[in-house]
Amino acid sequence: MVNENCVFCKIARKEIPAKFVGESDLALAFWDVSPRQPLHILVIPKLHYANVAELTLSDEASMISVMKLASELAIAHADESFRISFNTGEAAGQTVFHAHAHLTSRTPKVEVA
Ligand code: AMP
Ligand code: ZN
Repeated sequence: MVNENCVFCKIARKEIPAKFVGESDLALAFWDVSPRQPLHILVIPKLHYANVAELTLSDEASMISVMKLASELAIAHADESFRISFNTGEAAGQTVFHAHAHLTSRTPKVEVA
């Protein structure tokens, strides 16, 4: 459930800095360091799962926490139109192998730059 070399586990343990934007019992949200849309937030389970399938199939409570936090942040920060996505596997563009939701929007409510 913890991977010593995982960058998102280190963020969850507050060992490396991140710009946090939300937290719940089992999930954590922070701004993507390299945003690809005007709103780009990452939402992760605090526990380590390699991808969304592993997360969903082994820990429903953490998956629900991730989706609830992503939904709350979408309502708070996006102007109705947003996307929640999980890249899974290298060929699909996954580069960090700790499950994470990308919350993106072209129409944020606030200036986030
Ligand atoms: P993916 O390519 O789907 O695995 O997404 C990984 C995301 O994590 C990318 O959008 C990166 O910009 C982002 N990222 C990587 N390292 C950090 C970090 N230390 N803090 C915030 N975002 C990060
Ligand atoms: Zn991890």
